[in-house]
Amino acid sequence: MPAIFCCLADLRKVCYNDPIMKNYIIFDLEWNQSPGGKENSVDRLPFEIIEIGAVKLDGRFCMVSEFHRLITPTVYSQLHYKISEVTHMDMEVLRQEGDSFVHVIRDFLEWCGGDFWFCTWGSMDLTELQRNMEYYHVDFPFERPLYYYDVQKLYALARGDVREKVSLDKAVEELALEQDRPFHRALDDAFYTGKVLQCMDHQLWEPYISVDYYRVPEKAEEEIYLKFPTYSKFVSRAFPTKEEAMEDKIVTDIVCPRCKRMLRKKVRWFSLNQRQYFSLGICPQHGPVRGKIRMKKGERGGFYVVKTMKTVDEEGVRSLFEKREEQRNKRHVRNDIKKVKEMFGRPV
Ligand SMILES: [Zn+2]
Repeated sequence: MPAIFCCLADLRKVCYNDPIMKNYIIFDLEWNQSPGGKENSVDRLPFEIIEIGAVKLDGRFCMVSEFHRLITPTVYSQLHYKISEVTHMDMEVLRQEGDSFVHVIRDFLEWCGGDFWFCTWGSMDLTELQRNMEYYHVDFPFERPLYYYDVQKLYALARGDVREKVSLDKAVEELALEQDRPFHRALDDAFYTGKVLQCMDHQLWEPYISVDYYRVPEKAEEEIYLKFPTYSKFVSRAFPTKEEAMEDKIVTDIVCPRCKRMLRKKVRWFSLNQRQYFSLGICPQHGPVRGKIRMKKGERGGFYVVKTMKTVDEEGVRSLFEKREEQRNKRHVRNDIKKVKEMFGRPV
């Protein structure tokens, strides 16, 4: 088992010495979508929450409380077949036992209390929670930026490859946790997510906080800088176009994640698909630093940037040069096609 996992007994020993301890609210949502597909989907609410389940862990990672409520839908009056298949939920039960979203969210936030970290499996639940709140005009009581723990990401980090996201079922199986509850219902999934979190070494995962992207910074002063043990991250405000984002100096700066030096670029920013951009800077003290930009569509229009900067080894530099080579070849092909078009004055 990788080193980041530890036994719960060790974890508690560590926590008892720490006087400032927030609670952890681990929640999971089930939602419905238009049974008639995209055409009949409501733009502002593609996923309507029908169930909220959550467990509360105290600062010593003991489960101290549970929350579970059903919500009577008002937007989609039938369950999408996939939703009923996966969750085994029934519209009749939701109508009889559910409450309105506004009531449930009010009770949920009250149950959460004052000082806590949200934890979820993946990043979607926090987005959809906020989208539903916005749809029903419920105020956001959360601080901005909203930091949380993505337990799926923490688990991937613990397994040694952050890009390989595994399902909750698989994580529970890999950790040999008791499977005495079903999966794919909100409270059970929140419970299992809490169990997975309990199995990991708090001191190792604690720095790897995630930041919510539902509400990105509105102005330059609100832009977010995060430093992790092995890389740094920057989240920009939204720009009207991708080009304008890539013209911004702060967006395109490369800073060494270890000594914060502003670096000279060895490779200027380039992109293969206009979604990801790469660049390479050289730190005189720490060697090559790879910059990577993910261009993302803002919820309220425009584009914002998530930039990571990471020191890389020889293999990392080689892979970046290969990508640039690929981009140059693509560009040559594009230019050739353009020339042929011009020659014939018609599409080729
Ligand atoms: Zn450096």
